[in-house]
Amino acid sequence: MPIRMTYRAPMSARRQVIDLHTHSSCSDGTQTPTDVVRAAAAAGVDVLALTDHDVATGWTEAGQESARLGVTLVPGIELSCQADGVSVHLLAYLPDPELAALATMMEQTRHHRRTRLRRMVRLLADDGYPIDYDEIRASSPPGATLGRPHVADALVRAGVYPDRDRAFADVLHGRSRYYVRHWAPDVLDAVRTVRAAGGVPVMAHPFAAARGRTVPDEVVEAMVHAGLQGLEVEHRDHEEADRARAAGLCARWGLIATGSSDYHGAGKPNRIAEHTTRPESLRRILDLATGSMPRGAPLGRGE
Ligand code: AMP
Ligand code: ZN
Ligand code: FE
Ligand code: FE
Repeated sequence: MPIRMTYRAPMSARRQVIDLHTHSSCSDGTQTPTDVVRAAAAAGVDVLALTDHDVATGWTEAGQESARLGVTLVPGIELSCQADGVSVHLLAYLPDPELAALATMMEQTRHHRRTRLRRMVRLLADDGYPIDYDEIRASSPPGATLGRPHVADALVRAGVYPDRDRAFADVLHGRSRYYVRHWAPDVLDAVRTVRAAGGVPVMAHPFAAARGRTVPDEVVEAMVHAGLQGLEVEHRDHEEADRARAAGLCARWGLIATGSSDYHGAGKPNRIAEHTTRPESLRRILDLATGSMPRGAPLGRGE
């Protein structure tokens, strides 16, 4: 008679710490990819996703430091998108960033972000704020995705505000007279493109109302039909009711639920691993992805 073994986790098994949403200076984080990985390792993170806005340039550097520090890197991107004019952020895990449709989509967004930022800086400079677009561009790494946080940093450098948050509260928020929108792909196109690139699309902070308008459940449902595979449930910009709503939709549509910090270095109060993703959810993401491979240390410890 076959003996059935009951699996018992060893007493020492520790649950993995998994943070799947962080930014480096390749977009609007304040630390290099190397320093983001170091911060993650110091915080006890086992699995880290680097998800810069509209760019994958940080993956190589982050992967190298991850290998040195025993962290597993899940390469990701946070794509700026829109649904009927409402801003939607789409996390893409393990896509092939060289697939032409995805590369073009990101390049277009970065181009329109630059044009838009130039206009915002012009409006501010015309009103006497001592900032300059070329100085802003020169102050960030070549190819970095530029956004409002870079304007905030310039205003801080100029001594107008003490930190990013104050600059946002005063002149950079979405209803400011200095705010300029930028082109972004339709979120359904973006979901399909991420899937075509072998990535796993997960909607970032879906119901974070403090950031501006959010989409109704019907839009999330349309995204699911287009190939969406997960929702970020645990995020500091979600109230308890937002988490319940997101978790409910995950249960209803069989989506992967994630939780993450949205760490931006010193640019935001978010602490690395302040929210985390369950190992079962990470496993589903890894099983579904075909576009690229995790980097750094092999997975497994604590699982
Ligand atoms: P953008 O994508 O250029 O419109 O800028 C939005 C970015 O600014 C997002 O990545 C946010 O994380 C960041 N952001 C929004 N509000 C604040 C704030 N109060 N302080 C720092 N960063 C912020
Ligand atoms: Zn950001
Ligand atoms: Fe976001
Ligand atoms: Fe983010």
